[in-house]
Amino acid sequence: MAWLNGTVIDRTVWTETHISLRIAGPRPDFTAGQFIRVALDIHGERIARPYSCVNSPDAPYLEIFLNKVPAGPLSPLLMQLQVGDHLWISDRCSGFLTLDELPTNVRDLWMVATGTGIGPFLSIMQTDDAWKRFDHLTLVHGVRHADQLAYTGLLAKLMHDHVKLKVIPCVTRDAPVGAYAGRVTQALQDRQLEIRAGCNIDPAFSHFMLCGNTQMIRDMSDALHMRGLKKHLRRQPGQISSEKYH
Ligand SMILES: Cc1cc2nc3c(=O)[nH]c(=O)nc-3n(C[C@H](O)[C@H](O)[C@H](O)COP(=O)(O)OP(=O)(O)OC[C@H]3O[C@@H](n4cnc5c(N)ncnc54)[C@H](O)[C@@H]3O)c2cc1C
Repeated sequence: MAWLNGTVIDRTVWTETHISLRIAGPRPDFTAGQFIRVALDIHGERIARPYSCVNSPDAPYLEIFLNKVPAGPLSPLLMQLQVGDHLWISDRCSGFLTLDELPTNVRDLWMVATGTGIGPFLSIMQTDDAWKRFDHLTLVHGVRHADQLAYTGLLAKLMHDHVKLKVIPCVTRDAPVGAYAGRVTQALQDRQLEIRAGCNIDPAFSHFMLCGNTQMIRDMSDALHMRGLKKHLRRQPGQISSEKYH
């Protein structure tokens, strides 16, 4: 793998601990849902971490959405980057949380994220394929605080353009009016996801893509197993795909 020279061309501050960076320069092609490696040279060592590509694969730039892990070596320094600053990006993207990995019979797509795990779904929803393939798309975004519900402008535009999209914010600490007050798993268990999406979960037609922290992925997978859904593998098709950030 080689490193490409990127330059920050835009920086959106969502909260004190959540930002997006838009990066210009040569970049590899990717499939919506994949991640790239981003690196900085820190005390003579190149420190790299994976970050999901948030932008449409057709965009002339790359965008990542990240949160600060205070004790981590890389994310606090990425948070400090300003427009014009340099960073490294890998010349390859990877990952299987993509629509081309899904079985062909899927009718209802459920995209469930915690925190910055919304990234791959933002990219997927900026492709034509997402809107051609499914009858219903539901994005469930779980956060602690309401101000962590990033990209609301883009989501509002997508909902305006596509009536088949439903967005369900789930906020655990200070839920605003309209949001579900609690964890995404609770929302599944008390059927609020289905009620709010106007769509029933059915193993014959539903597929869940999960992205974010390990606990959410484990809890959601357990709850979905109880509803008859199984982990999706290439050799053994199922209804649950996931990507763990931490
Ligand atoms: C496939 C993949 C894609 C990823 N995409 C993104 C992304 O789009 N946006 C993003 O913000 N992060 C993403 N991550 C996490 C990211 O790669 C880094 O781990 C994170 O930014 C922290 O980096 P760090 O070097 O500061 O700390 P690290 O040394 O990486 O981690 C320090 C500790 O923090 C935990 N941790 C890692 N990430 C988080 C987090 N987001 N919140 C709380 N604790 C965390 C780790 O488990 C570890 O215990 C992704 C991880 C993977 C595996």
